Amino acid sequence: MNRSEMYGRFRAQAEPWDLIVAGGGATGVGVAIDAATRGYHVLLLEQHDFGKGTSSRSTKLVHGGVRYLEQGNVSLVMEALKERGLLAQNAPHLVRNLGFVVPNYEWWETPFYGIGLKLYNLLAGKYGFGASRILSQEETLRLLPNLQTEGLRGGVIYFDGQFDDSRLLINLVATAYEQGAVLLNYVRVTGLCKDEDGFVNGVHARNMETGEELAIAAKVVVNATGPFTDNLRREADPSVEPMIAPSQGIHLVFDGSFLAGESAIMVPHTSDGRVLFAIPWHGHTVVGTTDTPVAEPALEPVAMEREIEFILQTASLYLARRPARADVLSVFAGIRPLVRMKDSGNTASLSRDHTIRIENSGIITICGGKWTTYRHMAEDCVNQAATLARLPERECVTHRLSIHGFHTNSDRFGWLSGYGSDAPAIEALMEQDASLAERLHPALPYTAAEAVWAARHEMARTVEDVLARRTRALFLNARAAIEMAPRVADLLAAELQRDAAWKKAQVECFNQTAANYIVSAV
Ligand SMILES: Cc1cc2nc3c(=O)[nH]c(=O)nc-3n(C[C@H](O)[C@H](O)[C@H](O)COP(=O)(O)OP(=O)(O)OC[C@H]3O[C@@H](n4cnc5c(N)ncnc54)[C@H](O)[C@@H]3O)c2cc1C
Repeated sequence: MNRSEMYGRFRAQAEPWDLIVAGGGATGVGVAIDAATRGYHVLLLEQHDFGKGTSSRSTKLVHGGVRYLEQGNVSLVMEALKERGLLAQNAPHLVRNLGFVVPNYEWWETPFYGIGLKLYNLLAGKYGFGASRILSQEETLRLLPNLQTEGLRGGVIYFDGQFDDSRLLINLVATAYEQGAVLLNYVRVTGLCKDEDGFVNGVHARNMETGEELAIAAKVVVNATGPFTDNLRREADPSVEPMIAPSQGIHLVFDGSFLAGESAIMVPHTSDGRVLFAIPWHGHTVVGTTDTPVAEPALEPVAMEREIEFILQTASLYLARRPARADVLSVFAGIRPLVRMKDSGNTASLSRDHTIRIENSGIITICGGKWTTYRHMAEDCVNQAATLARLPERECVTHRLSIHGFHTNSDRFGWLSGYGSDAPAIEALMEQDASLAERLHPALPYTAAEAVWAARHEMARTVEDVLARRTRALFLNARAAIEMAPRVADLLAAELQRDAAWKKAQVECFNQTAANYIVSAV
C-alpha cells in the first residue's frame, strides 16, 4: 500500500464513485471497508493523516462500557460487547485481553461492583473475555502491587479488550485497500458539488501536498468527519442546527513502574462522576480521562491545566507512588464527537450511541459511537447509503473479515507484535541492513526499519505520521520523540526523495506539535 499507487487507482476511476467518504478515522475507514467488501466503488479522503483526529487519541479499550451499564443503556453495552468479540476474532494481533481491577475501599463496593460486573459478563454471552470475580485484599495487591493500600478492602476483577488505536486504523486502511477501496491521506474535502436540484453529487477537494484542486463525482457522499461533522453539514446547508457537542478527554502517560503488574485499575466514580482508568500500554502507564465540553473542535487539541491537575490528583488517590508533573512522559488530548441532545448540559451523560442522518441535501452524516463499534456503525451506514444511491443490494460481510496483519500468535514478534503477519517483513529489513535494526531512541523499542516500512507500505508522509501514528513514540514519550525526529526525517527523505529543506521543515513542524505533549514541571 503506497500513496502513488493509490493515486493511480484514483485516476483510473472514470465513472462517478458509488460512495465518497470524507474523514479517515475509525468511522470513515470502517465505512470504506464495508462498502468495498460489498463490491461498491469507494473513495475515502482524509484531510491530514489517517487517525490524526480522535481515532489515535482514545483510551485504547475495546470495551462494552461498564459505565453505560450503570446508566441503564443495556442495548449499547450488548452491542459493544458483541463488537468487542468480533474485533478480537478478526484482529487478534491487535486486541488483547486485559484484567481490570476495581479497587474497593468502602464496605458496599465489593457486592455492588461484584454484581454489576457479573451482569456485564453475562451480557457478553458467547463473546465473553473471562469471568469477573471478587478479590481479597491480598489478591488485589498481587495484581496491582503499586495500589494505594490505606483503607483497601479488596477488589473486583473483570476483563475487557485493549488495543493500539492508530495501528488498528492503519491495518483497517490496508484492509480496505486490499478489498479495492481507494483511500487518500492529505486530501481535504473543501466543498460539495450539487446537481440542478440541489442534491449533492460529489465533492471538491484539495491535495494538501501539491495544492491540486479536484472535483470528484459520486452517487452518495458520507460525512464521517468526527468532531468536524458540522463543518461539512454546513457546506451542504448553511442553515443546519449543529449536531455535535465536542468534549475533550486527556490522558497522561507515565513510566510503566507506576502501575507495575499486568492489570489495569478502573475507578468507577471520580470526584466529578467520571470513570478513570490506569492502564499498562506498550510498557508504560496511561491514565485518563477527562470529559470537558469545548466550544470548537481542534485537529491538534491541547490538554488544559485543570485537566492535567485533575488526573494527577485522582491518580494519587490510587497509586502508592504519587505521580508528579515531572513524571509525565506525554499528555495527549482527543475530542469526542458526541451527538448533541436537547437539555443536556453535561457531556459525560451524552449518548455514546451512533447517529446516522440523511440530510436534505442527500449527504449522509455518521457520527457518535465508539471505536469499539466502528464495524457495526459502518454496516448501518452502508445499508443507508446503498438504498439512497440505489446501489445493487448486497449483504454486509465484515462480521468475519480478517483485518490486515491477522495473526493468532503475534506475541512471538516481541515489540513488533502489532504488525502481525507484516512483522517478518520488518525483521527481514533489519537483517538485510544492520543500520535499520538500530533503535531510534534508547527509551523506546522502535527501530529505523519501522520508519522505512511506514513510508513504503503504510502511506506515512511526514515525521509526525511515523512518530505519532505508525509508531506511538509521541504518545509514549514526547521528549524522546523529539530526539528521534531528525533521524526519522533522514529516513523519510531518502524514501520519499525529499531534500534538506524538507527535512528541516519537518523537524521544526514536528517539534511544534510535540511541545503540546509535554507537561512543564511547574
Ligand atoms: C479521550 C477519548 C477516549 C476514548 N476512548 C475510547 C475507548 O477506549 N474505546 C472506544 O471504543 N472508544 C473510545 N473513544 C471514542 C472513539 O475514539 C471515537 O468514537 C472514534 O475515534 C471517532 O472516530 P471518527 O472517525 O468518527 O472521528 P475521527 O477519528 O476524529 O476522524 C475524523 C477525521 O475526519 C477528518 N476530516 C475532518 N474534516 C475533513 C475534511 N473536510 N476532509 C477530509 N477529512 C476531514 C479529520 O482529520 C479526522 O481524521 C474515546 C474518545 C476520546 C475522545
